[in-house]
Amino acid sequence: MLAKYDVLLIADEVVCGFGRTGSDFGSHHYNMKPDLVTIAKGLTSAYQPLSGVIVGEKVWQVLEQGTGEYGPIGHGWTYSGHALGCAAGLANLDIIERENLVGNAAETGGYFQQQLKANFDGHPLLGDVRGVGLMAALEFSPDAQQRLHFDPALKVGPRVAAAAMEENLIARAMPQGDILGFAPPLTINRGEVDEMIGRAKRAIDRVTDELTRSGDLKSGKKEAAFTV
Ligand SMILES: *Cc1c(COP(=O)(O)O)cnc(C)c1O
Repeated sequence: MLAKYDVLLIADEVVCGFGRTGSDFGSHHYNMKPDLVTIAKGLTSAYQPLSGVIVGEKVWQVLEQGTGEYGPIGHGWTYSGHALGCAAGLANLDIIERENLVGNAAETGGYFQQQLKANFDGHPLLGDVRGVGLMAALEFSPDAQQRLHFDPALKVGPRVAAAAMEENLIARAMPQGDILGFAPPLTINRGEVDEMIGRAKRAIDRVTDELTRSGDLKSGKKEAAFTV
């Protein structure tokens, strides 16, 4: 469809690039053929800052021809393409290959997704459990069936993130809603996945108890919805 109407596709691979989904790029995982690809985080694993844009042949030709006609496109800044960032990127990509971290993201990531579903599908605080590879989100809802949201004033997402921190687990409260995001290191193993999920579960159960006691989460509501 995009090709038919000559629409360019930009894939933002800042988080999905370099193995996070269990494929080398999210675009490959979902069989997309982007014209431009933005890359950053996984490129250096943050050991040094480096980001970039991969330009496909079609866009490259326009830039090349345009340079002849209009002069070069201005895309350089003082410290762009700094040698230190590039060296860190190359070393990081070597490690990703040598240690087969993309394979681990697929393998251990599959286990992670399965364990998330096993532990949280049907949990009274959970509206949605989703993810791919080593990236996942838990979305909290007072009523999953009716896709209801908590009053933002209750700050359910940040409260779960704070409770997780008390369990020595860093999980991010996403700003888009009551959503807890997970992006563990690509080196993680199954034992560490179990540990991570155990800590998350203790944190979520604690906030569930608080919300039940304050009357913001009606206990047994889900079961009631099934039996009506
Ligand atoms: C982190 C992130 C960004 C932000 O990248 P900046 O370089 O900070 O602008 C953009 N897109 C995705 C998907 C990200 O994960």
